Amino acid sequence: MARCSLCSKSSRLISRAPGVCLKCIRNQPGEALSVAFRAHEQSRSADGLPIEPPKDPHGKACKLCVNECRIAQSGFGYCGLRKNEGGIITGVSRQLGKLSWYHDPLPTNCVGDWVCPAGTGAGYPRHAYCRGAEYGYKNLAVFFHACTFNCLFCQNWHFKRETLKKTTTSVHRLAADVDASTACICYFGGDPSPQLPFSLKASRLAIDANPDRILRICWETNGSMASDLLDKMMDLALESGGCVKFDLKARDENLHRALTGVTNRRTLENFKRAGEKFDRRPVPPPLIASTLLVPGYIDAQEIRAIADFIAAVNPDIPYSLLAFHPQYHMSDLPLTPREQAHECLAAAKDAGLTRVRLGNIHLLV
Ligand code: SF4
Ligand code: SF4
Repeated sequence: MARCSLCSKSSRLISRAPGVCLKCIRNQPGEALSVAFRAHEQSRSADGLPIEPPKDPHGKACKLCVNECRIAQSGFGYCGLRKNEGGIITGVSRQLGKLSWYHDPLPTNCVGDWVCPAGTGAGYPRHAYCRGAEYGYKNLAVFFHACTFNCLFCQNWHFKRETLKKTTTSVHRLAADVDASTACICYFGGDPSPQLPFSLKASRLAIDANPDRILRICWETNGSMASDLLDKMMDLALESGGCVKFDLKARDENLHRALTGVTNRRTLENFKRAGEKFDRRPVPPPLIASTLLVPGYIDAQEIRAIADFIAAVNPDIPYSLLAFHPQYHMSDLPLTPREQAHECLAAAKDAGLTRVRLGNIHLLV
């Protein structure tokens, strides 16, 4: 249980980070964001990462994501991956990435598994190996070691222990691990955004080495990438039978900034842009959305706003509401209450979405 720094209310649905309650974020966003940003600063400093995107007017520009860093000599970008060394950006590239990976037997616990070829056989025979779930095949799960956001509730925060390490992997090494029973590659993390040139190159190498068979390319992302990179992701997902899975964390800009430290502007623009290609191949869906039901912060009102936004793009885009597990700086919150989850589900359906579901239901209390 924590106390809101603005209204002094105490509740088990208020977390010590961001340190303010949902009502104050909505009603007093200026003051609430000042408090929340202090929590982000502490979190970033503890992880050895820049507390905000560098904006040195004489710095080296990186435009891979919404943060559009201008990195001073010897400094790092917000993601902690890219460094200005003598006017050259180093750290990761198309050839070298910071990541780990493993083979995961299909069907797997993937945010797209309820609509994708691996989990359902959708798109058979062009994009799936069989009519139902693809037993006997594997997903190559690629976990990137950095992110462009600073979500206080991050469910995979342990990647931050790896971000600043020097160890890198070559793109050829990763692509070589696609074997005969690998049916899909899924890039996640952290977030793929700061390493998209690497994942696009790895995907192309893997597809070229495995001609005339199904190899789907999928990404799970916060959607903060440059729009030209998004276009390349969508085109590869469409071509291969894969999908781009957007994590839409909040519709309200202030709430998004309080929870993630970063604007949602690029994510929303990119989602609309990706949605324009949805009808080119509705089965299997090339675009999927999800939202984590953070207790006390992502309520039915917020889900309704996100669902309205998705429905305006295309009501047939599948939308998963995911139960929350207490993690990282929000480990003082409870699991998602069942009542909240069902209110959110009803709100998403009321918005007119045709495919909505609750995921991680084993976590509901
Ligand atoms: S990828 Fe994004 S966060 Fe990282 S250096 Fe480039 S602009 Fe900054
Ligand atoms: S990576 Fe893509 S194809 Fe594989 S299980 Fe996930 S959504 Fe389905």
